Amino acid sequence: MKIAFLGLGHMGLPMARNLAAAGHEVTGFDVMPAAVSAAADGGLTTAESGTDAATGADVVITMFQTGAQVLDAYRRSDGAAGLLDVAAPGALFIDCSTIAVDEARAAHALAEAAGHRSLDAPVSGGVVGAENATLAFMVGGTDEDFEAARPLLEAMGRRVVHCGGAGLGQAAKVCNNMILAVSQIAVAEAFVLGERLGLSHQALFDVASNASGQCWALTTNCPVPGPVPTSPANRDYQPGFAGALMNKDLGLAEHAISATGVEARMGMLAREIYAQYAAGDGAGQDFSGIINTIRAESA
Ligand code: NAD
Repeated sequence: MKIAFLGLGHMGLPMARNLAAAGHEVTGFDVMPAAVSAAADGGLTTAESGTDAATGADVVITMFQTGAQVLDAYRRSDGAAGLLDVAAPGALFIDCSTIAVDEARAAHALAEAAGHRSLDAPVSGGVVGAENATLAFMVGGTDEDFEAARPLLEAMGRRVVHCGGAGLGQAAKVCNNMILAVSQIAVAEAFVLGERLGLSHQALFDVASNASGQCWALTTNCPVPGPVPTSPANRDYQPGFAGALMNKDLGLAEHAISATGVEARMGMLAREIYAQYAAGDGAGQDFSGIINTIRAESA
């Protein structure tokens, strides 16, 4: 089975490496020459272009930044051959980028119209998960295509969940990250409120982590240093999950909220709060650093 892996960035390169290490025949490509050189230096087979990598491929995996990049690579707007034109007939297209639900559905439709099969398979777990092959995949597409992709996804991740039909992997991702954003803000507000009331960080942690306030934003990504020694707060909010990426994902949530007309007031407020955070230093800091903004604005 011939696999093309396109998009060798922070996530894509370690994912492609893990796939090759599991014994698959992988050819990688990225539009950034430096990313191709880094991949080749690391021993990955690379190609001269995206279509070169995908020509005759049975599986085409993409790991780009945006939905526009995915759609344009599938079917080029300038009329040149796109990935859908050159892959083997009936190839399986797996897009692992985090993109909007409607963009993912458009990508599925393009692949289907070209006689191919496709899945949306965004991930969580970050660069560390990509390197250690411990990513979680959220997958949208048919049962048959999901089963065909499963061994490949399991070579790159630890948890693979079939969420339903086309676009529903992206739907799960956007819903999960909206929960995460809202809960991280709530936890940060609670710590600042506790400080003002004279409550120690450790005391609040000991109570809430064993009570109904318990959540990942508290017990793994604790926004104050001390209670969880591995959380970004202990290393001056180095990410982790950068504010810029949370802001991107909340932009996708906002798009989905307005497309569906859902009354998601907390989600939209989180969107606004993280857009401001990411417009400043927060872009490059962990999103739990929002506590510093809350503290400063409470002064
Ligand atoms: P990145 O910018 O490091 O990598 C994306 C790569 O895609 C870039 O190197 C870019 O040059 C390349 N690219 C774009 N168009 C291309 C094309 N047509 N052909 C070949 N290469 C092309 O981004 P990343 O951090 O690896 O993230 C990738 C995706 O994963 C994003 O959608 C992001 O939201 C999502 N994600 C990232 C993380 C994280 O922690 N970095 C975690 C979960 C999900």
